[in-house]
Amino acid sequence: MKLALAAGLSLCLAPMALAEENGNHWEYEGAHGPAHWAEISHDYQSCAGTEQSPIDLNGYAVQAAINPPAVYWRNAAVTDVQNNGHTFQVALDNAGKIVIDGVDYNFLQFHFHSGSEHTLNGQRYPLEVHLVHQSADGRLAVIGVLFQRGASNPLLDQLIDVMPGNVGHARPTMSVNLNDFLPGEWESYRYQGSLTTPPCSEIVSWTVFEHPLTASADQFAVFETIFPHSYRPVQPTNRRFVLHTN
Ligand SMILES: [Zn+2]
Repeated sequence: MKLALAAGLSLCLAPMALAEENGNHWEYEGAHGPAHWAEISHDYQSCAGTEQSPIDLNGYAVQAAINPPAVYWRNAAVTDVQNNGHTFQVALDNAGKIVIDGVDYNFLQFHFHSGSEHTLNGQRYPLEVHLVHQSADGRLAVIGVLFQRGASNPLLDQLIDVMPGNVGHARPTMSVNLNDFLPGEWESYRYQGSLTTPPCSEIVSWTVFEHPLTASADQFAVFETIFPHSYRPVQPTNRRFVLHTN
């Protein structure tokens, strides 16, 4: 089990480098699209599992006295920006941690999906950022924040400036404060799910904020041009509980 988790994680962090070099190429559409991920490789079997992400977040969620993640983020230097062919991903130096139900999860990386992966009452938003954190035993806690059309987002502008247009890495001189991704209001959904890309490992505690941030149509267009339709369709909730802060 430990091995499987470790393998899943490394694939998650560098999908092009590891999984795809073995011919396990996946895409968001067509013959290698989401409906076929589980058939592409034995390593991707979890993609046909029963606790998959993303899901639609809606009025069926259970109102519960859950706490939002306790956030201990700090301004941190960017150590890597990457276009991995599926998404734009950013790594930071020592950016801090979150604590959920007494468990520490250290920040790993954030990346974007265009349009959003989680939908709210069936509505898809233009963009979603995933802030990925990892516990000492290898489990993940991901915070999802949605973007709706409105005022331009200053942090997105800085990131767009350094986003590689083609597959590759860069190390720009800049810092990011993850707190700039937090909406002003903290109502959120919590559920147990998976990575939303192969290998789809079911090791993720998801927190998705209900209140979106804003970004401009021009900003959405940059993501949509470089990473068009980079979201997995919503998956069945099955027997899971989706909790909503009350
Ligand atoms: Zn993601």
